[in-house]
Parts: sequence; structure tokens; C-alpha cells
Amino acid sequence: MQLLDGKATSDQLKKEIAEKVASIKQAGGKVPHLAAVLVGSDGGSMTYVNNKVLACKACGFDSTLLTYPATITEDELLAVVDKLNKDPAIDGFIVQVPLPKHINEDKVTEAIDYRKDVDGFHPENLGRMMLGLPTYISATPNGIMELLKRNKIDTAGKHCVVVGRSNIVGTPMSILMSRNTNPGNCTVTMVHSRTTNMKEICASADILIVAIGKPMFITADMVKPGAVVIDVGTTRVPDASDPKGFKLRGDVDFDNVKDKCSWITPVPGGVGPMTIASLMQNTLLAIELKNR
Ligand code: NAP
Repeated sequence: MQLLDGKATSDQLKKEIAEKVASIKQAGGKVPHLAAVLVGSDGGSMTYVNNKVLACKACGFDSTLLTYPATITEDELLAVVDKLNKDPAIDGFIVQVPLPKHINEDKVTEAIDYRKDVDGFHPENLGRMMLGLPTYISATPNGIMELLKRNKIDTAGKHCVVVGRSNIVGTPMSILMSRNTNPGNCTVTMVHSRTTNMKEICASADILIVAIGKPMFITADMVKPGAVVIDVGTTRVPDASDPKGFKLRGDVDFDNVKDKCSWITPVPGGVGPMTIASLMQNTLLAIELKNR
């Protein structure tokens, strides 16, 4: 088994972005500026947003963090989005999800100017991705594609099984892996909670990508010998032995699966850091698309 090290790959990617930003700066161009909107005080969301701000620093970007209480109304949040849409200093911004239940996430996503939607969640950007046009591809699927590419994993003609069909991970992932690209050119099967022969399908995967949020769901008997396993899941599982009081767990039973596969992503240190590096790539792209 070889570890698909998302931490090392993302560090390299951020270094390359920082070099590009340094030359933009030297040429008198605008340094990318990412804004992040955080609503409420969910521990996971706060950690993700703080990591995004730190990544901006590593890449030489400007960043702005806007925090609001969970009681913010939908109209107030839409007004924040409108202001960011119109602010020429901001090249791209994200509204961290999940949002409180009284706010319609789809409405907020659709209100974001798609040219600043560096999360790649806007229907315009998802549509452009479908058509293979230049766009912001959702950070997690894009990060996984980059991880496969940089580790020279051969995907053409392989059977890829994507577990989970969310709009931000599973669905775009299945489309990207089926496209005529490298990585890509897979025969893709997407499975979900209504799939009946899950074990059989997963065990036939050359590349197994799991994004469901159910710790240890994928057991060794569901993995084909030699498969490439990508674990997107990140669930905080209470753990008294950990100073934080929890451990991050993936959707794959890593300890029992690792010796059966050819490549596997760890949790943490796999897909998570690649997602953040990919957001940085999208923010740099915001500047490049603007300059076209
Ligand atoms: P989500 O919106 O919660 O959707 C979960 C998907 O999993 C749904 O399509 C659901 O099927 C499917 N599912 C749930 N239980 C299942 C089961 N027993 N068998 C088969 N399919 C099942 O998920 P998400 O936003 O994609 O997130 C998934 C996980 O990835 C979470 O742990 C999240 O924290 C993590 N995540 C990590 C990163 C990262 O950067 N590392 C980024 C994004 C998400 P139905 O559609 O049928 O309900």
C-alpha cells in the first residue's frame, strides 16, 4: 500500500501558487483576495475557515474573514453576499456551509456572483464543469483530481465507484471521473443510500471514492485487492484520550483496508488539505479569468 499524502501534495501546490502570486506582485498585478463568511460558532466550520485563512497567508493572498451570529436573518446574509459581489477588492468568496436551518442554502449559493464563486457551487459553474468549460470546479472533487494526477495514478478504462451523491462532492466527482480527461476516462458507478447491492459494487471498483459521512462504513470485504481508495469522510467522533475530545474519522476502515489496496488517503491528511489547496487554486484562477 502507498499513502496518497494530501498534506505533502497540498503543501507543494500552495508553494507553486505562492510563486505565481510573487510574480504577479512583482509585475505590479493585483494579489488575489479571498473573503470567507462564517455564520454561527460550529467547531468544525470554524476550524475549516481558519485553515482557509492560514492557506491564504501561505499562498501570499489577501484574506478577509467575516463572522456573523447564527441569528443572522436570510435577508441580512443575502445583503452581505450582495456587498461582496459588488466589492472590486474581493476576487472570490465563500459562505461556509452548513448554514443555520432558517437560511436557505440554495438561495444563498444562487445569490453569489458566479464569477466570484470560488467554491464552485453556483449552478452556472456546475453547468460549465459539465460542459468542460473554464470554471471553478468544486474544491473537494478538484482536489481529488489533482491528487490522482500528481501521484500519476492511471485511471483510464478503470471502474470508478463513487459512494454518495451530494452536490458538492459525489455528483461532481462522478462527472469528472467519467470525462475524457486525465485523470478521468473511467467507467463510473454512483451509489447512495438506496443502492441495494452496495458491497458487490464497491468490491468491483478499481477506484473507490467514498463521501457519505459514516465512519468506518467501508470495510475490507468491500474493497477489491489493489484498488485505489479515496476517503472523503470527516466525522468528529468523541474520544476522551484526545486533548480536543474527538478524533476525525473517515468513511473507510483504514487499518483493515490499507493492506488490501494499492493507494489510500489517510484521514486526516488526505482529501482535507487538498480541498483547501484547491480553493486557493480557484482563487488564483479568479484573477486569471478576470485578466482574459
Ligand atoms: P452529504 O451531503 O451529507 O451526503 C451524503 C451522501 O451519502 C448522500 O448522497 C447519501 O445518500 C449518501 N449516504 C448516506 N448514507 C449512506 C449509506 N449508508 N450508504 C450509501 N450512501 C449513503 O455529504 P457530503 O457533503 O458529500 O459529505 C460527505 C462526507 O464528506 C462528510 O463526512 C463530510 O464532512 C465530508 N467532507 C469532507 C470534505 C473534505 O475536504 N475532506 C469536503 C466535503 C465533505 P442519499 O442521497 O441517498 O441520502
